[in-house]
Amino acid sequence: MQFAQRLNVIGESVTLAVNAQAAQLRRQGIDVVSFGAGEPDFDTPASIKQIAIDALLAGKTKYEPTAGTPEARRAIVDKLAQFNKLAYSPEQVIVSAGGKHSLYLAMMAVLNTGDEVILPAPYWVSYPAMVKLAGGVPVMVRGRPEKDFKITPEQLAAAITPRTRMFIINSPSNPGGHTYHPHELAALAEVIAPHAGIWVCSDEIYERLIFGEQKTCSWAALDFTRWKDRTITCNCLSKTYAMTGWRIGYTAGPRPLIDAMNKLQSQMTSNITSFCMPAIVEALTNSTLEKEVEKMRSAFEKRGEYMWRRLNAIPGFSCVRPTGAFYAFTGIGGALGRPLGKSKAPAREAVEFCRRVLDEVHVALVPGNDFGFCDHVRLSFATSMENISKGLDRLEGFLKL
Ligand code: PMP
Ligand code: GLU
Repeated sequence: MQFAQRLNVIGESVTLAVNAQAAQLRRQGIDVVSFGAGEPDFDTPASIKQIAIDALLAGKTKYEPTAGTPEARRAIVDKLAQFNKLAYSPEQVIVSAGGKHSLYLAMMAVLNTGDEVILPAPYWVSYPAMVKLAGGVPVMVRGRPEKDFKITPEQLAAAITPRTRMFIINSPSNPGGHTYHPHELAALAEVIAPHAGIWVCSDEIYERLIFGEQKTCSWAALDFTRWKDRTITCNCLSKTYAMTGWRIGYTAGPRPLIDAMNKLQSQMTSNITSFCMPAIVEALTNSTLEKEVEKMRSAFEKRGEYMWRRLNAIPGFSCVRPTGAFYAFTGIGGALGRPLGKSKAPAREAVEFCRRVLDEVHVALVPGNDFGFCDHVRLSFATSMENISKGLDRLEGFLKL
């Protein structure tokens, strides 16, 4: 069968594929420990669920404004003002079906064929695919593990060409687990600022999952007057409130950009699920939920620290300490090319390594290839301590000489 050529430039999302593989093995009765899922293992807070149930029972089952109800947009505006120090109006906000949809619409709205998009590597798997689907060309700038994967202003400057149209920044970052401090963001901003035609797409979905003394900030908050017309601020409820399945994302930016995204969305998906709109208001305005957000954050911090220490103790592994999100992205270079597992056969790169680990010791890892690093693997620590400990025991067993 013949399909559109645009499908030839992308592959399936590797993160979702690993989740599916692990789920399939579980259905066969195999006890898989999955470090694949990039989603909180906690349940959505009860009051958020109740508001959606009430809305459903009250008959909130019809079309809504494409960009979101006035109440949901107002709640987002207030959250952006209070938490992010960003002064947007409701017309400068659009609600979409998850962070993924928000980012995709933004790229479809601004990119033309051949436009270059600068992506710090390691990058989240879907960025290059989205850029390519929108006709753009991903330009990778490689962060070094010795620098916690953070790119430098010099590297950024060297990647800019007359065709550069967008720079994507994700802090805290998936998969690197690193977080840019406001002064590091400010140094990158100085490089972008003179190039008036470059948009900054700031993916802030892990903003509340930040560890220890680490700080970060919204890109546009570096200097709102300077950045408000050039920044696309993307966020979602998925990670902060354990709502990955709800599919709620939002974007804030200049009115013409939001209008353009609204136009696209109105022809594609219309509004997000109607009875989820009041859940946005509940999540973003009920301050008692802060306790639950903090409970999840501190659990991720403890698990991340534990996983990082154990990974670094494995000969041949080298892992940057996570300062945000819920991923450990470890180098496995020292374990490649040497005897592994029962068969003692070596693995050459991360895809092969992960396949062997899943087959032989039933631990699901995500190979780093689609994040731009074929000698790294990603482990999500959004799973219980018990699972983390069990999975790492198995991994150590697989690596024992
Ligand atoms: N950006 C990053 C960096 C992500 O890790 C993800 C994955 N959840 C998304 C965007 C998409 O989020 P959502 O699940 O809300 O679509
Ligand atoms: N973003 C999450 C991850 O990286 C969820 C999966 C996906 O959307 O790709 O695992």
